[in-house]
Amino acid sequence: MGCVLLTGAAGFIGSHLAEDLVRDGWSVRGVDAFTDTYAPRQKRDNVAAVARSPELHLITGDLARDDLHGLLEGVDAVVHLAGEPGVPASWGPGFATYVERNIIATQRLLEAAAAAGVDRFVYASSSSVYGPADRPLVESAVPRPLSPYGASKLAGEVLVGAYAQERGLSTVSLRYFSVYGPRQRPDMAAHRFIEALLDHRPVPVYGDGRQARDFTYVGDVVAATSAALVAPVPTGAVLNVAKGEPVEVRDLIAILAEELGVEPRIEHRPQRVGDTERTEGCADAARDVLRWEPVTDLRSGLRRQVEWHVGRRTGARSSRLEPSPRPASYAGPRATQSGVPSQPDAVGAQPVGAGSVGVVSIGDGDRLGMP
Ligand code: NAD
Repeated sequence: MGCVLLTGAAGFIGSHLAEDLVRDGWSVRGVDAFTDTYAPRQKRDNVAAVARSPELHLITGDLARDDLHGLLEGVDAVVHLAGEPGVPASWGPGFATYVERNIIATQRLLEAAAAAGVDRFVYASSSSVYGPADRPLVESAVPRPLSPYGASKLAGEVLVGAYAQERGLSTVSLRYFSVYGPRQRPDMAAHRFIEALLDHRPVPVYGDGRQARDFTYVGDVVAATSAALVAPVPTGAVLNVAKGEPVEVRDLIAILAEELGVEPRIEHRPQRVGDTERTEGCADAARDVLRWEPVTDLRSGLRRQVEWHVGRRTGARSSRLEPSPRPASYAGPRATQSGVPSQPDAVGAQPVGAGSVGVVSIGDGDRLGMP
């Protein structure tokens, strides 16, 4: 149907979305700066398989610094996932990175998207914008972020709203809740717990383990994001993307230990500043607007994540998702029968436009090249 610019394409969520969009017949222009927030090697592995598709053109570039001129040429829609994630590192001087990658990058991309007149701009926001509010969290609650990270994501969301209101951009902000699944970032809870259990190390838990999170499977998050590209939405829509079933961290560990057949040893550490006690999102608005339903139960989703961790250790590095569940009304572009096309020798990378955004070369080893 058209061309999507996907930022953060090599990240945890972005790499899954890239596969999903290609599978659905979109032409995908992926951008990623391969930041060293965690190992760029993991990001290269994330996209290694899909980068072989001729429908993914992967570009390495920094949205906060590089010239974006030409990047949006021929682009119909944008999904903006690129950003600096994580609460703890956002305190102190580290905040400058959050300002650059979550606020400056978003404003520059919005400016380019408005100038190019794209049909839709989807922004990855976060449950971290909420702070204290009645549960379940609804989009109309006054956002009061408890961390500089949350504040930076909220600033991005506010900018998105301004470009919708004043510049006529058709936008959707999706507030993701605690996403988990294969390729999860190494700083996130399930990733850390699984690695500790596999190593027979004590499992590090911040606080008493009773804090609850609304864990939402990455395949469901990807399905909501794909739907947001084409669904009719009110101007500047903001939608929770949540499973709606909070689970205590200690129960999460118990499921993981069961799946791995080990007895967990918990090592309690002081609670971290800015960590919310409980997240629970109401996703009724997303259900209505996107005709979307989160369908993956926690145990099945965690099982897939465990398989990914085990697979990495045994050398089976590629973990492509099964097709994500579709909303009933999904009117996406041509669906391919065969999934992602595979051309082992093709490198899914091309220069785009005349800007200074570079080219990444994936599929022929680990070379990361700038022209
Ligand atoms: P991730 O770190 O795996 O992916 C983000 C990607 O963006 C990385 O690959 C990074 O290299 C890239 N990036 C960062 N700054 C960039 C820049 N200036 N230019 C180009 N690329 C840049 O994180 P993720 O968990 O996949 O999260 C994706 C998005 O979803 C983020 O915006 C995050 O704030 C948001 N989010 C994630 C969760 C979650 O649970 N994972 C929850 C709420 C919101």
